[in-house]
Amino acid sequence: MHTVGRRRFFVLGMCCALSLARHDALSARPRQTPAAFRWPTGRAAVSLSFDDARTSQVDEGLAALKKMGVKVTFFVTPGGVEKRVDGWKQAVTDGHEIANHSMTHPCSGNYAFSSANALETYTLESMAQQLDEANARIEKLLGVKPTTFAYPCGQKFVGRDRNVKSYVPLIAERFLVGRGYLDESPNNPALTDLAQAMGTAFDDMDFVQMKSIVDGAAADGRWVIFAGHEIGRKAYQTTDLGALGQLSAYLKDPANGIWLGTVGEVGAYVRDRQREAAAR
Ligand SMILES: [Zn+2]
Repeated sequence: MHTVGRRRFFVLGMCCALSLARHDALSARPRQTPAAFRWPTGRAAVSLSFDDARTSQVDEGLAALKKMGVKVTFFVTPGGVEKRVDGWKQAVTDGHEIANHSMTHPCSGNYAFSSANALETYTLESMAQQLDEANARIEKLLGVKPTTFAYPCGQKFVGRDRNVKSYVPLIAERFLVGRGYLDESPNNPALTDLAQAMGTAFDDMDFVQMKSIVDGAAADGRWVIFAGHEIGRKAYQTTDLGALGQLSAYLKDPANGIWLGTVGEVGAYVRDRQREAAAR
């Protein structure tokens, strides 16, 4: 047993030494910052997005966003829009992007709210139907056709076990951008796959926390897509209005060198630059 234990230790030690050496080699390489990637203005891009068509986004959010002078992306489900149709029409008039968040918001059945609408029971065909029906309903309700999508719960699969399939290709076929959720890094615009762009949590934070994410991204020339839910006073799954106001002022100050654009606007710019780079 001892020998086995020592051998295991040796193997583990070797593995870590190798990974350290690899880490050194990686850090010795020029940093793969998107230095060659030029943003139209500034050092980085930031998009503000909110999911689920929650009523507070209309009731609390729209007037505040107008005052702040910022345009955001709302990833909506048609059912959510139907609760405040006039408000969502106002959002369109105000210039916000209305985007797709599926028809019925399927997530893993491990979430109690999704146990009867579990991704594990979906097929690529039924998921495609979710996407297309949502776009058709949103267009009928609001007169705009979504071009970007946010994965409900950030999950990108259908089926279970050996029959699991990624539905990322369905998004790539239909949308300019597919945004994830609770991802750990902002996007490197030179190489990010727009069909699974990273989404950064936005709720429950104060301005200092938000600013530190933006400043980190700016140092690397990246694109932060914040993903929030309710808009109001700081609470569970709520983006704080006070912090949002401070952040908006910070993002709009030209001295800070940030491009604030909707997911669709920044996504189109990133796609075009990636295409140009591929053609060179
Ligand atoms: Zn959602």
